[in-house]
Amino acid sequence: MTSLQLSAKEEMVEKFLDAAARGDVSQVSTLLSHAPSLINKTGFSGWTALMLAARNGHHHVAEKLLSLGCDRFTLNSSSQTAYDVAKFWGHRHIASLLSRSADGCERILLGPELGPQENYFSRETLDRLSWRRTDQVWLESKRSDPDTVYLLFSNLSPMVSTSQEDNTERQEDFTLCRFRYEDVKDLLQKPSTVMIFLGIEKVKNPPSSSQTVESVSEPPVWFAVNTDEDAAALLKRCREKNCLFPRSPNRDLLKLSEEEAGIVAQARSVLAWHSRYSFCPTCGSSTRPEEGGYKRSCLNSECRSLQGVHNTCYPRVDPVVIMLVIHPDGNQCLLGRKKEFPAGMFSCLAGFVEPGETLEEAVRREVEEESGVKVGPVRYVSCQPWPMPSNLMIGCLAVAMSTDIKVDENEIEEARWFPRQQVIDSLFRGARPAFVFPPRQTIAHQLIRHWICMNSNL
Ligand code: ZN
Ligand code: MG
Repeated sequence: MTSLQLSAKEEMVEKFLDAAARGDVSQVSTLLSHAPSLINKTGFSGWTALMLAARNGHHHVAEKLLSLGCDRFTLNSSSQTAYDVAKFWGHRHIASLLSRSADGCERILLGPELGPQENYFSRETLDRLSWRRTDQVWLESKRSDPDTVYLLFSNLSPMVSTSQEDNTERQEDFTLCRFRYEDVKDLLQKPSTVMIFLGIEKVKNPPSSSQTVESVSEPPVWFAVNTDEDAAALLKRCREKNCLFPRSPNRDLLKLSEEEAGIVAQARSVLAWHSRYSFCPTCGSSTRPEEGGYKRSCLNSECRSLQGVHNTCYPRVDPVVIMLVIHPDGNQCLLGRKKEFPAGMFSCLAGFVEPGETLEEAVRREVEEESGVKVGPVRYVSCQPWPMPSNLMIGCLAVAMSTDIKVDENEIEEARWFPRQQVIDSLFRGARPAFVFPPRQTIAHQLIRHWICMNSNL
């Protein structure tokens, strides 16, 4: 590069900064249309065009520069942003213009109070009574109690009875099959059987103080049992008709009532942990279940895991962030589809939280990895246990800071911005929905619904 060219460039920067300082919006536009890279150039003491416009109260110029994407957070040699400059010189309208973007993004996330949202798999039907887990005598006495309820799992699938007998079009429902001690006591003797204490039924009407403790019987205790017995033989134990062990948990476990889904969320996750973590992660020795199935202890007396408290001894929960990313215009949302999704279905992006990462950072990283979109503010909405086998889906809304999409084809087949109206039409089955909504039992469905309800009167 020759010195002549360099000085021509410098001259251009000077001209541009001068136009901004004078409030000449048309010259600012013309220069930027020829040389867009001028926009964030700095002159004396690191002042940008935006700072000069802010210093001299040129609202139109500031607006123009912002609309063309100038960086509002650049600092001059006195560590001031354009906002600081506008505020110092008393140009309040420019200060408010400059503060708007960060706020504006936040505002996209603020809706009316929509009340608590309950997700499928989230209902606490039983009282877990965790302090009873170490009470061996009590647990032992409840095992053979005639009121005690047992749920039977085979290969981590609960035995259910199905409503599917009448040949109606009605959606098939599943109900958990409940067993008594007498029905399952032979299974409990087998070393391969795992039994966990789930809790006791919640008391709907607590006893009044006039009743003595003895006169009020304790509500039934629930246990879940996973066995490797032949599934067909197990089904014969049930007195109910139309029993089965659902084959595809991701789909079939969504057919339970809210109450039973909450019980299965707890039972299946803990049973799955036992089936996958039967050896000590520290030394590889065998382990045995303790504390009603909420702990496994190593059988090697020398093992480090026996000294102190170690998370390897307890059931795991795997946090996953799932987020609805909103366009900076507040009126579109980003949805993606994986190859394995049913035809036409689009849903929220999601991914596992990594060690040493905040939820907000996990949201930003996952969205950028999967779609190429950069994310700013993030807000938590609600969460959902997803017992396949032990995810906790942490639902967030997030606002995009960039809009170009570039999908990671290993994870996502396609990602798109969907206008709010298309989303509303797809939810309420418009004539030609733009995409298929994820099922109502998923937190993705609830997050999208939450967003469309935030700013409309639906
Ligand atoms: Zn060990
Ligand atoms: Mg990912």
